Amino acid sequence: MADETIAAAAIRWFDTNARDLPWRHPEAGAWAILVSEIMLQQTPVTRVLPAWEAWLDRWPTPGALAADEPGEAIRMWGRLGYPRRALRLHECAVAIVARHDGRVPNDLDALLALPGVGSYTARAVAAFAYHQRQAVVDTNVRRFVARAVAGAADAGPTTRPADLDATAALLPSEPAVAARASAAFMEIGAIVCTARAPRCAICPVTDRCAWRAAGRPSLDGPSRRPQTYAGTDRQVRGLLLAVLRESDAAVPRARLDVVWADPVQRDRALGGLIEDGLVDPLPGNLFTLPRGDR
Ligand code: SF4
Repeated sequence: MADETIAAAAIRWFDTNARDLPWRHPEAGAWAILVSEIMLQQTPVTRVLPAWEAWLDRWPTPGALAADEPGEAIRMWGRLGYPRRALRLHECAVAIVARHDGRVPNDLDALLALPGVGSYTARAVAAFAYHQRQAVVDTNVRRFVARAVAGAADAGPTTRPADLDATAALLPSEPAVAARASAAFMEIGAIVCTARAPRCAICPVTDRCAWRAAGRPSLDGPSRRPQTYAGTDRQVRGLLLAVLRESDAAVPRARLDVVWADPVQRDRALGGLIEDGLVDPLPGNLFTLPRGDR
């Protein structure tokens, strides 16, 4: 429909094409949505699904997680990557219990004040759990809006206030409809308006997309470089943490030393884990996941 707004077209498409993801179910609740949003940062849906289900089976409420040790959160995080998210999620649960009686707050400022909850996550929870009118802007939404509205090939490497404003301008005034539009923009950005191969032929806004109308001019700004993993400190940190996750007892340094041959890089990675609070050093050259101060 040519006179449809971008939001209306996106919602119409979303109603019949959205992936059936459990955190989108009406009964999911704010805690489940918050956990999903933190897990989904830089991690594909297929890897998040089993981890999310296991996490909520074990800790169905913030209070349940807050009552457990932070090291257990890191253990349950498994191989999702960027394990500081697990620690921050534990801190977030503790703060929700202390400040909000164990309920995820619905106020944007209160959400933004929680540990580990940034602008994107706070707005996502406010929109998807509490049906508020919030611009929810991740990398995919930025790219979709940059193309459809600004006619640019991509949105550039960092989120700017202008990205929030550009997305907010597309949202309908009715909060629940705006929240649905935000979910639709995210889905289109994730599976239709992809970075490398936008599927314009099936896109619900193809007849009003500025980038397509301009003949899909190529990217002329700075583009993101693909991230590498093999051989990085991130890989070494992951190997060290895997040893600790698999052990219920404290681990001697000798068991960590075998995971990586380069002692300088290994020590640097271990030092970084300790500095980040992901590993606790104990007397006797032993190491463990953090046990908290309970
Ligand atoms: S028409 Fe193509 S470039 Fe434009 S928003 Fe849709 S998928 Fe993206």
